[in-house]
Amino acid sequence: MSKGVTVWFTGLSGSGKTTVATRVHDLLHERHIHAERLDGDVVRRSLTRDLGFSKEDRDKNIERVTFVAKLLTRNGVVVLTAFISPYRRMRDNARAEIADFIEVYVRTPMEVLLERDVKGMYKKAMAGEIQNFTGVNDPYEEPENPELVLDTAAESIEESALRVIALLEEKGYVPRGTASSVSSVVDQASAARRHVESRRTPGPSVPHGGSLVNRELQGDALKSALAHARELPRLTLDERELSDLEMIGVGALSPLTGFLRRMDYETVVESMRLSDGLIWAMPVTKAVSAAEAASLKEGQEVTLVDESGEAMAILQVTDIYSYDKKHEAQKCFGTTEAAHPGVARLYAQGDMLIGGPVQVLRRPAYSQFNEHRLTPLETRKQMDEKGWKTVVGFQTRNPVHRAHEYLQKVALETIDGLLLHPLVGATKSDDVPADVRMQTYEEILSHYYPKSRVMLAVFPAAMRYAGPREAVWHAICRKNYGCTHFIVGRDHAGVGNYYGSYDAQILIDALPPHELGIIAVKYEHTFYCRTCGNMASTRTCPHGKEHHVILSGTKVREMLTNGELPPPEFTRPEVARILMDAYQAQATAAAR
Ligand SMILES: [Zn+2]
Repeated sequence: MSKGVTVWFTGLSGSGKTTVATRVHDLLHERHIHAERLDGDVVRRSLTRDLGFSKEDRDKNIERVTFVAKLLTRNGVVVLTAFISPYRRMRDNARAEIADFIEVYVRTPMEVLLERDVKGMYKKAMAGEIQNFTGVNDPYEEPENPELVLDTAAESIEESALRVIALLEEKGYVPRGTASSVSSVVDQASAARRHVESRRTPGPSVPHGGSLVNRELQGDALKSALAHARELPRLTLDERELSDLEMIGVGALSPLTGFLRRMDYETVVESMRLSDGLIWAMPVTKAVSAAEAASLKEGQEVTLVDESGEAMAILQVTDIYSYDKKHEAQKCFGTTEAAHPGVARLYAQGDMLIGGPVQVLRRPAYSQFNEHRLTPLETRKQMDEKGWKTVVGFQTRNPVHRAHEYLQKVALETIDGLLLHPLVGATKSDDVPADVRMQTYEEILSHYYPKSRVMLAVFPAAMRYAGPREAVWHAICRKNYGCTHFIVGRDHAGVGNYYGSYDAQILIDALPPHELGIIAVKYEHTFYCRTCGNMASTRTCPHGKEHHVILSGTKVREMLTNGELPPPEFTRPEVARILMDAYQAQATAAAR
């Protein structure tokens, strides 16, 4: 079996791109590997028949080809594109979009091109009879780091094609051929094993969209990007944008490679899907003021900085667009009321959005929980080490009371592991502070959970309070962290009375399970029943409310502030004591 990849041939007209691509295509077919050619001959007759050769139309042509190549690549096809594609920005964008991408620069000296000049085009261009002819009176931006450079003046078509095949083998996209003409003699079994190991993302689940995104620069690339970042215009990230950026960088938001472009933003808001059809529940956007937007041009790069001015990433601005905040609020939050904290935040941000791929320079520096700041790749590796084949994720921004503990343990009766994944990004000021919550988690895990069955890591997201949509988004993020299951309780990610208790479960149920790719484990309200003598829900306990230990959050807080322990059937005393200290300290501070 082959894994999908796009081989992007670029080079001047007459360099031999299409000829080599066609030969590679035939060689792959001989080996029964799914391959498709996308080149001018193919697409200009169909997909892009309406386009001409202005810069704008050429960009559109490449954009559409990129889109199709991405879909084919995701479905395991080896895509061979052959376009002059003179602009580096468009090729870099294709690389970012497609991920599995090999750039092949077909380099041929101008004197050879002039000699070949089959249709006499170069001569006409040089005589000024044709305008905008790449290489003569229009620029060609050479690739900076192509995976392969072919010299069709010095080597035969067959040699060039075999070098492409050899690279595909070496990178593990196609199995080593049986013909020894291509590869040197290798131990085929160990090569196959290496291939499987190198291609497979660790962890029990497949990342959303197929592969785990990594947008963090390292080594020399990082060094030069840091220097480059100093030269670029700067835009400041707010707290939510900064945590979104961190998550894009580590792949928690796979398949996103940057902030949403206009076409993705629009389909996400309207129909909870990216423009290619993949389920995506929440906009992940970078807002700017109208004045900032006016100072930017599509295609340029900007440095994204945190509030202290530290450079965090370089964003390649592919889209600058206006948007309708009220519409987004209604669609994503189900309300346009500014009293809703997520909507208030949306209303307060800039009136324009910019989108495009990012290259992350650094993660935010944190003073807390660093031992629990695991990236999706790290949680996945640990899950493999623990031998977990199934893992249930638990999102929380609250202390774990007995009811939550019960849900987790019911799940653990049939699922191998639990990822307790508290959200520690920005929350409302009246939520329990993250450091206090973390103490309660560590305490409860060490006393009441088998060590080999749980993992505690923090989820760097900011709360959006979007209820049902955010529940879907949370589930997809946890899929990227390696989870196969995700607990959706009552009023997930809700706030006030904006959402019905089970709206999140209803929305998740409405999505095709194979498209979501993570199983929602749904629970009703649970409690301790004195008569049953155990934790239960209305699904398992026949008794009335008077038999149940139920306390409101407000009541518990009041008890704790007054130094009173809630019943152990409601909350473990170890947890209660930590909360009591925190609330009392808060009350004292407030009284001062
Ligand atoms: Zn009962």
